[in-house]
Amino acid sequence: MKIKSVYKPASLEDAYQELLKSSKHVLMAGGAWLRLSNRTVEKAIDLGCLDLAFINDTAEAVEIGSMTTLKAVEDSEIVSGLYDGILPAALSQIVGIGLRNVVTIGGNVVARHGFSDIITPLLAMNAQLKFYDKGLLSLHEYLETRGKTTDILEKIIIAKVPSRGYFKKVRKTALDFAVINVAVTKTEAGFNISVGSRPSVGMLCETAMALLNKASNIDENLVDKAARCAADSLKFSDNHRGSGDYRRTLTEVYVKRGLLQLLDLEEKA
Ligand SMILES: Cc1cc2nc3c(=O)[nH]c(=O)nc-3n(C[C@H](O)[C@H](O)[C@H](O)COP(=O)(O)OP(=O)(O)OC[C@H]3O[C@@H](n4cnc5c(N)ncnc54)[C@H](O)[C@@H]3O)c2cc1C
Repeated sequence: MKIKSVYKPASLEDAYQELLKSSKHVLMAGGAWLRLSNRTVEKAIDLGCLDLAFINDTAEAVEIGSMTTLKAVEDSEIVSGLYDGILPAALSQIVGIGLRNVVTIGGNVVARHGFSDIITPLLAMNAQLKFYDKGLLSLHEYLETRGKTTDILEKIIIAKVPSRGYFKKVRKTALDFAVINVAVTKTEAGFNISVGSRPSVGMLCETAMALLNKASNIDENLVDKAARCAADSLKFSDNHRGSGDYRRTLTEVYVKRGLLQLLDLEEKA
């Protein structure tokens, strides 16, 4: 990528106005993904000077600033206290520490990469996104929107509720993208199941969740049925990391293991 100039905005409003001025102006976070592209950028708007790197622990929620690096989130005791620490667990499996010290959580979420190991757990954690212009959107709603985002993600908000969580990334080698990733969570409101790297982006398995959440008693038979339903209800495709059929099989296996673990029906999977 060729960057002709770097702009240091004085405020979020300043950054937003610069972004709107031209399609050749881009927001720059860690820059690690941007630099892989071949495009020429007239102006890279550096989000590094806007105090967006923070982890705030409030009474109701944990708020993670969009410019917080993956390593800072991974090391946070506050974030580790949510959903059995599935977000730090997922982050610790993304490439090497050097890159995790540079790459930002916001840059990952905004880009809606199919391979994202961050969107999958955040979806299952009912994360909300706070954008500068659009305001609050659930991650689920954001993923439903299409096209390029002309807005600035300020922070990710995770409500503090009693919760359990399970995350699994299947990859061929330690540094590779996922063949599939699966997150299962449990709160008083019920179970959430999300599956990503299908190879398209993480998605909630709403039919399987409904099956579990309306049941008065969940036994191993129902867990089997829900895991099969999760695998059958999602679309999987082939790529060089694995076939759609392989991904479907893995999904059934890991959704089942996640549910059994959270129901304390099996030793840690
Ligand atoms: C070699 C390599 C391997 C990787 N492997 C994995 C992996 O296995 N799993 C995984 O989940 N991820 C992986 N990633 C992706 C990584 O986690 C980040 O998603 C990616 O690097 C983008 O983060 P960044 O901070 O570098 O963003 P940048 O490259 O600076 O920006 C990425 C995009 O997001 C936009 N953007 C950034 N911040 C904001 C914001 N606050 N508001 C609005 N738009 C914004 C930018 O304009 C740009 O379009 C990998 C990345 C690299 C380079």
